[in-house]
Amino acid sequence: MGELLIRPRHAPVRANRARGLMGDPGPLGRFGEYGGRYVPESLVGACREIEDAFRAAWADPAFRNQLAGLLATHVGRPTPLTPALRLSAELGVTLLLKREDLAHTGSHKINNVLGQALLAKRMGRTRLVAETGAGQHGVATATAAALFGLRATVFMGERDVERQALNVFRMRMLGAEVVPVRTGSRTLKDATSEAMRHWVGVVDEAMYCMGSVLGPSPYPWMVREFQRVIGDEARRQCASELPAAVPDYVVACVGGGSNAAGTFAGFVDTGAQLVGVEAEGGAGATDGTPGILHGVRSLFLQDDDGQVAEAHSIAAGLDYPGIGPEHVHLRELGRARYVTVSDAEVVEAVVRLARTEGIVAALESAHALAWILRGEIPAGSTVLLTLSGRGDKDISALRELL
Ligand SMILES: *Cc1c(COP(=O)(O)O)cnc(C)c1O
Repeated sequence: MGELLIRPRHAPVRANRARGLMGDPGPLGRFGEYGGRYVPESLVGACREIEDAFRAAWADPAFRNQLAGLLATHVGRPTPLTPALRLSAELGVTLLLKREDLAHTGSHKINNVLGQALLAKRMGRTRLVAETGAGQHGVATATAAALFGLRATVFMGERDVERQALNVFRMRMLGAEVVPVRTGSRTLKDATSEAMRHWVGVVDEAMYCMGSVLGPSPYPWMVREFQRVIGDEARRQCASELPAAVPDYVVACVGGGSNAAGTFAGFVDTGAQLVGVEAEGGAGATDGTPGILHGVRSLFLQDDDGQVAEAHSIAAGLDYPGIGPEHVHLRELGRARYVTVSDAEVVEAVVRLARTEGIVAALESAHALAWILRGEIPAGSTVLLTLSGRGDKDISALRELL
């Protein structure tokens, strides 16, 4: 859980393939050789309790209905599937956009956060503790806390606090406490370490609200399940939109990998090619090596001494130096592949989408489009792209670049 990557104490356990891809990883929380729960003794009990509570809640139709109701009335789900007509014509493919940018608070993060907040309520917790990078997950957490009458404490690197002043104000307006983190590189990695450290002291009253498919078991599984709504909806929507029912390609951007995991979960049992697109400077799947950080064994950017390297991306939501364990597993099985694009390609993609479809996407989401624009997809293909968020938060950054 600290910043030093530690070696696993026991041999990695092979995944139980019988459970099927993107199913329940079981009590060890393993995806092949990745995943697990590498936390201090003081958090083992809490993680187990959350796992038990989640497993029971997810099997309880009342919990599912309550969450589905909230997603409909508060988030605006189902989000539309928008055919990108002009861009499709230019590219010679059929491009469909899954519009998470239209979800309340402007990205897919709210799907997961409402699930975790509802679970916290069910468990009798009164507080949420979270990390945030650019502030999107923090804003979503503050929103859910306000909605449920929970107290929210959000840890944010000092550098991000300065860079994302608007989101800091937004969180405070929603009633959350924002704690600037002054250690290390003063960004997301350090905010996560600090938030988990803080959780140890308040574990009986607080639920840790993880922002992506990362962290100790059950978080990677639980967050993927809460984001599965993206893929499930898109699967139904594609069935009525496409003659073949299933697209040839399913493409999503990958930071930690939650919007991609939620999207892939809806198509993993089909013949669709699953493609995760990372930022060149924050490519955990492409450039990472095995290690343990923030309670999970996965791939992380690190130097020869096992020190975590800093990630850099034009999109603040993609500069976590690792990737969720299930993505590593999907890649090793050959079920999904992971590619990278450059910042320059991303800026070009934002402008292209804005001018052909009238949609300003988040810089994160534009990574997925940037890969599609490379033209490696054969003409005539059908492509589903998850637009993870809207670009309002990036306007001032873009203004300096364009
Ligand atoms: C946070 C964020 C991401 C990256 O997170 P994942 O867990 O990889 O989905 C992508 N897009 C947007 C809009 C975000 O806010």
